[in-house]
Amino acid sequence: MMAKIVPKKHPMPEQDPNERIKNFNEVPLGYDERTAIEEAKRCLECKPKEGQKICVDGCPVGVDIPRFIRCIKEGKFDEAIKVIKEKNSLPAICGRVCPYENQCEGFCTLGKKFEPVAIGRLERFVADYERERGYVVKKPEPKGKKVAVVGSGPAGLTVAADLAKLGYGVTIFEALHAPGGVLVYGIPEFRLPKRIVQAEVDYVKALGVEIKTDVVVGKTVTMEELLEEFDAVFVGTGAGLPKFMGVPGENLNGIYSANEFLTRINLMKAYEFPEYHTPIWVGKRVATIGAGNVSMDCARNALRLGAEESIIVYRRSEAEMPARKEEIEHAKEEGVKFMFLTLPKRYLGDEHGWVKKMECIRMKLGEPDASGRRRPVPIPGSEFELEVDTVVVAIGQSPNPLLPRSTPGLKTTKWGTIMVDEEGRTSLERVWAAGDIATGEATVILAMGGGKKAAASIHRYLSGESKWPEDWKPVNA
Ligand code: FAD
Ligand code: SF4
Repeated sequence: MMAKIVPKKHPMPEQDPNERIKNFNEVPLGYDERTAIEEAKRCLECKPKEGQKICVDGCPVGVDIPRFIRCIKEGKFDEAIKVIKEKNSLPAICGRVCPYENQCEGFCTLGKKFEPVAIGRLERFVADYERERGYVVKKPEPKGKKVAVVGSGPAGLTVAADLAKLGYGVTIFEALHAPGGVLVYGIPEFRLPKRIVQAEVDYVKALGVEIKTDVVVGKTVTMEELLEEFDAVFVGTGAGLPKFMGVPGENLNGIYSANEFLTRINLMKAYEFPEYHTPIWVGKRVATIGAGNVSMDCARNALRLGAEESIIVYRRSEAEMPARKEEIEHAKEEGVKFMFLTLPKRYLGDEHGWVKKMECIRMKLGEPDASGRRRPVPIPGSEFELEVDTVVVAIGQSPNPLLPRSTPGLKTTKWGTIMVDEEGRTSLERVWAAGDIATGEATVILAMGGGKKAAASIHRYLSGESKWPEDWKPVNA
């Protein structure tokens, strides 16, 4: 007889909202062994028929999900992590920040009738289990070929790990003083503790990868020089260039880009002031412009840094917010306020050049635009003023322009992303690219998926299995 199906995911234990807004500790606490096994038992172990899609089809790096969940069911946690690491070298990170509701869990058969299996939480559980006990790394025979990786975000780390596992000598060049990309400078401590990122970076290093920080490729060293020294170069420089609205007063003191705000808090450790001598000034009433994941991170950080009011100002309605549901719920629980259908028109400052007010206009929703979401339209005469002393502009990031601009022959799109073909090959022979620098700002797992494809292509090329294409055709022109 079939066991009774548990319709809902086992809940994730979390820090209480009233407590957590006073600290920067991680909000979700993770499953224990018993809960992980019980959750794994919900899995139907689908054997899909031709044409039917299941969880694995929704995972951009192709983790064998049913197999690792079966291992958890049987209490074989060491086996489970081995299965995951066949495809994913950063599981503790993915288990925390992957938008799994749209990826693997979005394809889960159980999810058609009930809540899907909590695949992300189970991945996090086994990754944490392994980290707490230590891992064993097997180093392959060296191939005698060298690959340079530019950028140490999820795309660069994935390429480095995949190629190191095959025996290539890999060196990562990172512009900042710490590796990890957005994982260390953008995503806050309370969502992704930096010790978790460090542990996964250490795993990549243990595979034999060398990481050189404080090297800006395009300034400190050129692409030409890298191509002289290395057999192949991978570019994963991400999308870290802040976007502004271009409205009057946007350069007043107290107005930050999300990028500056988060980098100063995370990478420069403002959240650990006075232990670290690099504080950030946050006022009493903080407005964050935009409603994506980055905006939720800024608004939640502002509360933790002492703001009395933290308000998300968004030009569309609640239904169009692009942030993950879980992040919006967490922000609401913590007391972040939301002002929908509102657009800043200009900022007003005091005699010392500090922002004091924001003039906004009310919006209504019109016809759907190219993204399928209803277009916000200003309501004439509805202008009003909002008193604020800090503003964070979180309306998106553009690709980092430095490397493409300093590399002759590297073709880019009109959005500044590097043009690549279906394998991540660029217009320059022996140079590959993936992640946000090729797709525009996306997600950790999509950057990793692109990195995996590029690593496989680099391996085919360097092992003589394939040649550089004579009729190179970009897929993102
Ligand atoms: P990045 O992570 O941007 O890494 C690029 C690296 O290249 C950086 O370290 C940079 O310093 C370095 N670099 C740039 N130029 C040079 C150069 N010339 N020389 C040397 N090094 C260089 N995604 C999710 O899936 N879930 C989330 O919850 C989530 N939250 C986010 C929150 C924030 C605040 C932000 C900003 C993004 C978030 N994202 C999230 C998106 C995700 O982090 C990115 O899509 C992902 O990090 C892209 O990876 P990447 O490797 O392409 O680039
Ligand atoms: Fe299990 Fe869902 Fe994957 Fe089926 S689709 S194997 S139920 S996790």
